[in-house]
Amino acid sequence: MDPTLSVELRDHGRPAARPFDELLRQLAGFEAAPSLCASIYLPVRWRDEQQRERVRLFVKEEARQVRVRLGDGEADDRLRRDLTRAEELVEERVRQSIDPSDRGLALFLSSPHGLELALRLGEPPTARLHVGRALLLAPLFALAARRTLVAAIDHHAARIGVATASRFDHLEAPESGIELPQRTSASARHAVGWRFAGHIGSWLSDAASRIVDLLRETRAERLVLVARPSIAEAVEECLPQRERALVLRVEHSDPTAADDGAIAELARAACAEATRAAVDGLLDEVGSIERGASGQGRVAVGAAAVVRAANEGRLRALVLSARFSAVGWRCSACGAVGEGGSASCVACGIPVAANDLGEALVRRAILSGARIDVLDRLTRLDVAGGVAATLRF
Ligand SMILES: [Zn+2]
Repeated sequence: MDPTLSVELRDHGRPAARPFDELLRQLAGFEAAPSLCASIYLPVRWRDEQQRERVRLFVKEEARQVRVRLGDGEADDRLRRDLTRAEELVEERVRQSIDPSDRGLALFLSSPHGLELALRLGEPPTARLHVGRALLLAPLFALAARRTLVAAIDHHAARIGVATASRFDHLEAPESGIELPQRTSASARHAVGWRFAGHIGSWLSDAASRIVDLLRETRAERLVLVARPSIAEAVEECLPQRERALVLRVEHSDPTAADDGAIAELARAACAEATRAAVDGLLDEVGSIERGASGQGRVAVGAAAVVRAANEGRLRALVLSARFSAVGWRCSACGAVGEGGSASCVACGIPVAANDLGEALVRRAILSGARIDVLDRLTRLDVAGGVAATLRF
């Protein structure tokens, strides 16, 4: 299970069980042409009736505006049916008492292709209704950001869980059974700690192997250790190389006493700082290459460079600002992407429709197995073209 995204999939109203990555690839490869398809993102955590009503009215009004723009062709007719169905589904969901763990809902609809998929989201998205030849997928990556495993750990206990932008979900809270005497002087505590060193060492090593299991189960891409420095160091030493590379340390004198909100906030701040540092590193490397210094050259910044790298199959990780906006296209036949409103694919010549370039790059990245980060927060990337990538070669 993906803790931030696929709480539940509904395929034509029935629960569907498909691995999320596989589903994502199917959605990325989906082409509605010559018809249109609808993608809808809604926050569903309502504090009061007013908010609930606002979501309902948002969908009604957006659907009305799309209908105004439609013509009288067959594709338009089908989209009209999809919009009506979308309004029904939203109405249903709005009336239902929603599972309290739900924060958001994504709906993908295309009746000519038999697509009707609802995705329960663990994070609240910005409300969107999008109609086009392809599905709108970038908002999913803005929500997922990076899955973060958090371990608040001390000599006597640990609390391990998954942190998202808005909460901390416990997975495990093991205890070591080690009780150090309280209210002793620092030197006495040190002496006692020395006596317990062996026990603490094996407790931390057990905790570390549990953390490794959970990292793999949750597919988390970051591990935030909330601990005193000596404890964090001991845990890190027990981690394999790959997992050690995921660690972000947050110093805390009494981590197991901190409440969930505080832990979620610490993890969030550590991740935001790491993201900023990663973007800075990427831009600095490009800067040094441009200045003629020797660099790896395995980075691309700006739409033109990223598009070129994508078409060469070199994307390792795509980093996109949520505010990035440019016109572009993706060829449904050969997968090429391009900037601007070209009428036909520059690689194979078949007709292409202008779309959002960010979306085209996201779909290309999904299909080529690249990692995707959509950054909600302002970073230096926003003044450097809004899109960048690290490259495979
Ligand atoms: Zn093509």
